[in-house]
Amino acid sequence: MTDQTMKFEAETAQLLEIMIHSLYTEKEVFLRELISNASDALDKLRFASLTDKSLAGDGFEGRIHLLPDPAARTLTITDNGIGMTRDEVVANIGTIARSGTRDLLRDLEQTRAKDLPGELIGRFGVGFYSCLMVADRVTLTTRRAGETTATLWEYRGGTEYTLKEGERDNAGTTIVLHLKPADPDDGLPDFTNEWVLRRIVKKYSDFVRYPVVLPVTREEGEGDEKKKVVKDETLNSMKAIWRKKESEVTDEERSEFYKHVARDWADPLVSIHLQAEGRSEFQSLMFIPSNAPFDIYSQSFKRGLQLYVRNVLIMDHCEELLPEYLRFVKGVVDASDLPLNISRETLQNNRQLTAIRGALVKKILHELQKLKDKDEEKYLTFWQAFGAVLKEGLHAEPADKDRLVPLLLFASSNDKEKLTSLAQYRSRMKEGQEFIYYLSGESREVVEHSPHMEALRAKDYEVLFFIDPIDEFMVAGLDAFDGKELKSIGKGDVELAGEDEKKTLEERSLQFKDCLAALQKVLDEHVSEVRLSSRLTSSPACMVGSEGYLSPHIERLMKQSRLSMPPQKRVMELNPDHPVIVRIKERFDAGLSDEELGDTARLLHGQALLAESSPLPDPAGFARLVASLMK
Ligand code: ADP
Repeated sequence: MTDQTMKFEAETAQLLEIMIHSLYTEKEVFLRELISNASDALDKLRFASLTDKSLAGDGFEGRIHLLPDPAARTLTITDNGIGMTRDEVVANIGTIARSGTRDLLRDLEQTRAKDLPGELIGRFGVGFYSCLMVADRVTLTTRRAGETTATLWEYRGGTEYTLKEGERDNAGTTIVLHLKPADPDDGLPDFTNEWVLRRIVKKYSDFVRYPVVLPVTREEGEGDEKKKVVKDETLNSMKAIWRKKESEVTDEERSEFYKHVARDWADPLVSIHLQAEGRSEFQSLMFIPSNAPFDIYSQSFKRGLQLYVRNVLIMDHCEELLPEYLRFVKGVVDASDLPLNISRETLQNNRQLTAIRGALVKKILHELQKLKDKDEEKYLTFWQAFGAVLKEGLHAEPADKDRLVPLLLFASSNDKEKLTSLAQYRSRMKEGQEFIYYLSGESREVVEHSPHMEALRAKDYEVLFFIDPIDEFMVAGLDAFDGKELKSIGKGDVELAGEDEKKTLEERSLQFKDCLAALQKVLDEHVSEVRLSSRLTSSPACMVGSEGYLSPHIERLMKQSRLSMPPQKRVMELNPDHPVIVRIKERFDAGLSDEELGDTARLLHGQALLAESSPLPDPAGFARLVASLMK
C-alpha cells in the first residue's frame, strides 16, 4: 500500500482550526467522544458477528483501553471493535459527515465567531476532532474486522493528513494523542494522570456498556517485599441507567447519558423515565433535546431509539418505536418480552412492540402537556425547536390527534408577541362568532396587512396566523376544535355579513352585474369570477380562493420545489363602497373603451395581488400602468 498525503476539504480544515484554537473550557469531553466512538465500534462488531461468526471469534469481549504515558506525554485509546478500512478512514475521519455543517460554518465565517460555546461545537458533530482541543498530533491505527491489513492515519496540524500501512494484531482502532502541555487553568489537566482519567470516565462515561480499562500501578507487600504491580482496573460501572429508579439517578448522570446516546453537547431539555410493568414489561429513558439538529428535515436524518432486549443492545436506531413526528426524541428502550433475535422485518408485526410504541407516545405527549401547563417558558423553547415537527403528527397519525391538538401554539392577531393555543382562542371568541378563523401566508407581516383581515378586524374577531409552511397541510388533519370549525379567511365562503347586509349586497351585485362581467372577461386567464364582497372595509379589492384551493403561499412553495401544479384561478372580490370601485362603476356606466377597461381591470388585479405579497403575472406591464397614472 502506498503512502499518501491527503488534503482536508476546506470546511473540514476550517473545523479543525476551530477545534485547535477552541477556548471551550470543558476540553476533557474529548474523552467522552472517543469512548463513545469506541463503544459504537464495539456494538457494530457485535452486530456484524451475528451474521458472520468469524469476525469476532469465540469468547470475544469488547474492551476500551486507556494507556497514558506521562514521560512521552501521550494518551492512547484502544478498542477491539469493528475498525475501519482505508477508504472508511478517508470517508469518516477525512470529511465532515453531518449535513448542515457547511451552512453553519458559513454563518460562523460571517460572524467571525472564534470562541464557540460547547452547544455549538457539539452541533457540528465534531466527535473525533474534539481531541484536537487537547492534542497537537494524533495518530489513528485501525484494522477492519475481517481484513488483514491496517491503516495508519496521522495528523500533525495544518490542512493535510497522511495515510500509510499500519500494524495491528487484531481488528479495532488505536488512537494516540500527543498531548498539549498541561494547563489546568485552561481546561487542560494532566490527561496522563490516573486520577484525572478516573474522574473523567466516571463523570461522562460511567454507563458505557463495555469496560473502560486503565492499567494502574500500586505498591504491594511490606518492607523489602515491597514491589510495584500493574493491574488493569475497570473505571466505569457499566450500569444501565434506565434500569434504575428515576429517584436514584441524578440530573447530571441523566444529562451525561443523554450526551452519549444523542451525541449532543448540550443538556437535554426534558428527560422522560418510563418503567412499565404488566403485559408488556419494559424500561425506557427518553430525552427531548434543547436544540433541533440541522438535519431534522433531511431524508438522511437518523431517527429512532436504541432498542435493548433484557439489557442487550439489539438495534441502534429502532424507527418502529416512535412515529416519525416524534423523531426528535432520543433515548433507549429495554424490553423484557421481545425475542433477542428480532430483526427489522419481524419488528413491524410484533404485538409487543406495538404496545410499547403506544405507551411511549402516550407518555411523551403527556409529559409535553405537563410541561406546557407548568412551565410556559420551557415549553416555548421546545415549541420553537420542534413545534413544526410535532404538527406533522396531526396529518400523519390521526389516532394521536386528541393528544396533539392541545399542544399546538399559533401566532394570532390577539397578541403581537405571544403565541396562543386553540383553547385560549376559543375562550376569547365573540358572541355570535361561529368559526375559528385563520389566514395563511409567508410571514406575520404579510398576513397582518392582508386585505382579508379588514372585515374581521371590523368585527373584532381574532384570527390565527398560519405562517409556518406546514400549517396549511396540518389543517387537513384539524377541521374543528371544541365544536367550532376552522375557516380560512382567504377562501371563498367566509360569511361575515348579517342577513340585512347580505340582502343589500345581492341588490348591489345586480346593479354591478355588467361591470363585474366585463372585468372578469378581461382577466379570464387569471380570475374565475369577479364579485362584490362585504369582507373589505378599506381596500378596493382582494383575491380569494375556493375551498380546496391551495393558498398562494403554498403554491409558491410547490413551484420552488418544482412540484407540478394544476393552474389555479381565483375569485377577485371588490368592495362596492370603496371610492375606487364607485368611480370604476361610474366610468363603466358612462361607457369605457376596451383599452380603458383592460387597463382598469389589470390595475385592480395587480393591486390585489400585491396586497397579499403575490407575484404579478406581468410586473413590467403593471409598472407601466402605474406610471401612466402618475402623468
Ligand atoms: P460521529 O461519531 O458523530 O459520527 P466522529 O467524528 O466522532 O463523528 O466519527 C466519525 C466516524 O468515524 C464514526 O461515525 C465512525 O464511523 C468512525 N469512527 C470513529 N471512531 C471510530 C472507532 N474507534 N472505531 C471505528 N470507527 C470509528
